[in-house]
Parts: sequence; structure tokens; C-alpha cells
Amino acid sequence: MFVANRVAAIHEQSEVTQWRHMGSTSNPADDATRGLMLDCVQWEYYESEIKDLKELGALRKTSPLFLLELHLREDGLLHAGGWLERAPLTTGSKYPVLLPWDHHVTELIVRETHENKAGHSGRDITLAVMPHEFLVPKGRRLIEWVLKGCHVCR
Ligand SMILES: [Zn+2]
Repeated sequence: MFVANRVAAIHEQSEVTQWRHMGSTSNPADDATRGLMLDCVQWEYYESEIKDLKELGALRKTSPLFLLELHLREDGLLHAGGWLERAPLTTGSKYPVLLPWDHHVTELIVRETHENKAGHSGRDITLAVMPHEFLVPKGRRLIEWVLKGCHVCR
């Protein structure tokens, strides 16, 4: 019963917390490592957007990501947001961290969600339980790719 109560308590908290409880080892450096990892991914993929935000304070209208209303937050990461501001969500969900669909770090997140949180369910359920703290344009494509490569589901 204790375990059930604890799981319920975790579910009541934010998606961010759920994700950390689910994915992390007991290493206290984990959050820092994760932040660093996401930072590297974003620099690799969105360097010009990050530079524009730092130097111009805004994205160029020619950026393919212009409509996502990207901004840098105190964690140093690129977040999408604006249109979700009024939604009754946690901060992490209102301003999700942008991740590219074709990066192996994003793939690891999807795989872990598919295996541990979705219990090897199909695409729609895996998508539904993805951590809301992330925004992955073309994420469906990545989920399909992960499912295709899943040894349990095959
Ligand atoms: Zn599977």
C-alpha cells in the first residue's frame, strides 16, 4: 500500500517530477547531468536560434522555428511557449524544452517512455504519456521509429 500511495503522490506532482522519478538513478548529480545533456543537444541543433536570442533578443522571422515563440529561460535552455500560457499546466509543460526528433538523446527519452511508462503500448499511448516538459516537432515520426526498432514489440 505504501508503494501505491507513493506512486499516486508522484502522479499528483508535475510531469517534470514524474519524469525524474521514473528515469533517474539515485545519483544526485542526475538533474545537472540531464540539463547539461539537453544544453548540448540544443547547441548542436539550434545554435543560430540561441545566438539570435542572445544577441538580438528575438528570432529572425526567417527561422523555421519562429512560430514556436522560443525563448531562453533561467536554466539556459531553449523553451517554446506563449500559446500555452493560459493552460492549467505546470511550468515545465507551459514552456516545454525544445528537442529535435532526430537526435539520439531524444530517442533515448522516447524509448524509456515507451518501455517504462507506456509498458510497450502503441504509438498513441506512448505519445500520450511522453513527458510534457519536452516539445519535439515531428515527435510522432520518432515514436514510430522507436516502436519499429523495439525488440519486445516486434
Ligand atoms: Zn516496445
